[in-house]
Formats: sequence, structure tokens, C-alpha cells
Amino acid sequence: MAQIPETHDDTLHRRGLMFILSSPSGAGKTTISRKLLAHDERMGMSVSVTTRQPRPGEIDGKDYIFKTQEQFDQMVEDGHFMEWAHVFGHSYGTPKSQIKAGLKEGRDFLFDIDWQGTQQLYQKSETDVVRVFLLPPSLDELRRRLTARGTDSAEVIAGRMARAQAEISHWDGYDYVVVNDDIDTCFDKVVQILAAERLSRARQTGLIGFVRELMRPEV
Ligand code: 5GP
Repeated sequence: MAQIPETHDDTLHRRGLMFILSSPSGAGKTTISRKLLAHDERMGMSVSVTTRQPRPGEIDGKDYIFKTQEQFDQMVEDGHFMEWAHVFGHSYGTPKSQIKAGLKEGRDFLFDIDWQGTQQLYQKSETDVVRVFLLPPSLDELRRRLTARGTDSAEVIAGRMARAQAEISHWDGYDYVVVNDDIDTCFDKVVQILAAERLSRARQTGLIGFVRELMRPEV
């Protein structure tokens, strides 16, 4: 009788995928990322290297790997990054080391990177990449979220809005677009995208033996 290899857990017979979540800040990406990591133990976070200063509460090695510009430039030269980009005045990059081996073992990785990094990963590794873009529900709501701290000047807020709108202009470089008008609904949609992509035939190459067995002529 044909057996599904080992178990119904599809990670055992497929290569991992690179699940990219991009959005302008204020669209809820951080919340969705946290929920996804907590919900799905098969998903690991790709921890980026950055030259920006840590924000209060950020932990080196967990939220980002913080480096000086000089160290970052050396890492670029040494070929350490799968992708890297300048984003709003700082350098950000995805280290190769953690990802490559993990993908082979069927582990999935979540990337919180911008449109430039998304493009680079897609060009390098099209079949491994799933690109998801989150949008805020309205311009007013985006402004409200970017103003939430209440202590920033009109100029600072205008700068944030302009950056958010610049990021939104790249939405057409993504496979999926989800409007985040309700965090739980948005999260459910992201989980559905992930579930469908894990089942894509192209990724489940490990099923070949099983399918052959299913097609074995009966005597
Ligand atoms: P923040 O400094 O607010 O954490 O991130 C600023 C922007 O940089 C966000 O849009 C984030 O997605 C992007 N970013 C973070 N890490 C990387 C990375 O490794 N590569 C690229 N290309 N963008 C990144």
C-alpha cells in the first residue's frame, strides 16, 4: 500500500520557502510577523544585519544584528549577504549563513525586508520566494498610525508619510497583497497564503516516490 513519506508533515519532503512580508511602516507588519512566528514553529525569522542604532527594547542578534558601516561594508565585500540595500539612510542585509542550510532541511523563513531586497531574493531564488505585501486600510488610518506617538513634529510625520507612500508604490512587485483593516482577519489571510504555498506541487518534490507508488500498476 502507498505510504505518504514518514508523516503528513510536509516539511519532511519539501524544500523550505522564503516568506517575505513587506509593507510601509504603519501597516501592521511587525504584529503579523510576531503572530506568525508564535503560531508556526516551522517558521524561523531571518535576522537581518543593520547599521542603524538599536531602538529601546531591541536585542542584538534577535531583532537585528547591529554592525558599524565599516563592518557592514566588509560583509558585503566578503559575500556574506543574500541581498542588501540602503533603506532610508541605513544599510540592511540578509546574511546567507542561516538561510541556505535551513531551506535544504525544509525549514521556512520569514523575511521582514523592503522592496529592493525582495527583488534581489526573487532574482536569485525565484522558486523559493513567496512575496506578500500588506497595505493599510486608508490614508487617514495610515496617518493615524504614524502619528500615534503624539510627540513628533508635523515635519517628522510628513517625512514618515512620504516614506510610507514611496514603499507602497512598489506593491506591484509582490505575489499577494493583503489590506490590513483588521489584524486577526489579515493574519488569517497570511496564514492561508502560507498554507497554500507549502502545498504547491513545485515545492513538494519529495512526494515523487510516493506518487510513483500510487501509480504502480496493480497485478
Ligand atoms: P526598521 O529600521 O524600521 O526596522 O526597518 C526599516 C526598513 O528596512 C523596513 O522596511 C524593513 O522591512 C527593511 N529591512 C529590514 N531588514 C532588511 C534587510 O535585511 N534587507 C532589506 N532589503 N531591507 C530590510
